[in-house]
Amino acid sequence: MTKPICYSTKAFSTASATSPLGATNIERRNPTASDVQIKILYCGVCHSDLHFARNEWGFTQYPAVPGHEIVGRVTAVGSGVTKFKVGDTVGVGCLVDSCRTCPNCRAGFEQFCDSGMVGTYGGMDKHLGTPTLGGYSQSIVVTEDFVLRMPANLDPAAAAPLLCAGITTYSPLRHWKVGPGQKVGIVGLGGLGHMGVKFAKAFGAHVVLFTTSPGKIADGKRLGAHEVVVSTDEAQMQAQAGSFDFILDAVSASHDLNAYLNLLKRDGNLVLVGAPEKPLPVAAFPLLMRRRSLSGSLIGGLPETQEMLDFCGTHNITSDIEMIRMDQINGAYERMLKSDVKYRFVIDMASLA
Ligand code: NAP
Ligand code: ZN
Ligand code: ZN
Repeated sequence: MTKPICYSTKAFSTASATSPLGATNIERRNPTASDVQIKILYCGVCHSDLHFARNEWGFTQYPAVPGHEIVGRVTAVGSGVTKFKVGDTVGVGCLVDSCRTCPNCRAGFEQFCDSGMVGTYGGMDKHLGTPTLGGYSQSIVVTEDFVLRMPANLDPAAAAPLLCAGITTYSPLRHWKVGPGQKVGIVGLGGLGHMGVKFAKAFGAHVVLFTTSPGKIADGKRLGAHEVVVSTDEAQMQAQAGSFDFILDAVSASHDLNAYLNLLKRDGNLVLVGAPEKPLPVAAFPLLMRRRSLSGSLIGGLPETQEMLDFCGTHNITSDIEMIRMDQINGAYERMLKSDVKYRFVIDMASLA
């Protein structure tokens, strides 16, 4: 494989699971015929970035550049690009390529590609033969089929988290047809959870937020929850037993799944989107009783991600964000570990100039 011509761009990377992130220069390929070159304006900070930077899932290769909630402006397009032009505001989410020919790719579920999707970070770059590097950088080059159109009416910074937190919650709520007449739980009011609350409300369900942080009760209601349960309060949990059609669990750390299975009705479904470092023990009986299900869901494919963005444009849905400079990222990670984010950090990439 001949290595394509590359250019250098500024980025923030980490050299090991225990090092802080710091400034560096990385190489991006010059756009090929089907590529879009994007100047990154904003990048959301997902808890997955932290899991990955610290090798909590065990597959990180260093140096690593996290970031997969990217919004930017097109600065160049290859000769074969038809969907985008210079100056367009575009998004890039968690994946930048896939085989495109397997049944899952053909059905628009590129995240489940049989050959493995190419993650925006931590994947294998087909052009360079090296690990992909994410959005904590000034510029990225992505094949046009994996670039999304951003609705013009949405604030681009507040829309950046839609590219992961948005689609990751939208997709399971849509797949399991959450809507009017259903009682739906959202567990954890973080980046994903607060989007889950907004979407479940927009889809017409009765929404109950479960939080470990009593200080988030008022925000939970403002964001759309009809009820807020403090999950550390046994009596409040007991009062909800056997009453839910669907619960979306967006917690980033170890917690008791059995307590949530017990809240489901007959045939109810607990769907995990949170990806904690350690396995979560599940007892048989909470599943056997009432024929309950335990499921999972991973981000979303390109067609559904565009559908979600368009839905957000129509309904004026974005994230509640706290803007940070790139050099504040290490402090932001520490706050994320304390559940102290309201409700997504977004990096202003101009701060990396
Ligand atoms: P986040 O912003 O840090 O939010 C996580 C929330 O979980 C916290 O705000 C907190 O909410 C709750 N929490 C934290 N520690 C807890 C504990 N020990 N026990 C109970 N609750 C706890 O994280 P995020 O960016 O939303 O990501 C959440 C998880 O989803 C991460 O594991 C991430 O890697 C994963 N993820 C998965 C996908 C996918 O495709 N499936 C995509 C993106 C992210 P309260 O303060 O309200 O309790
Ligand atoms: Zn993410
Ligand atoms: Zn495929």
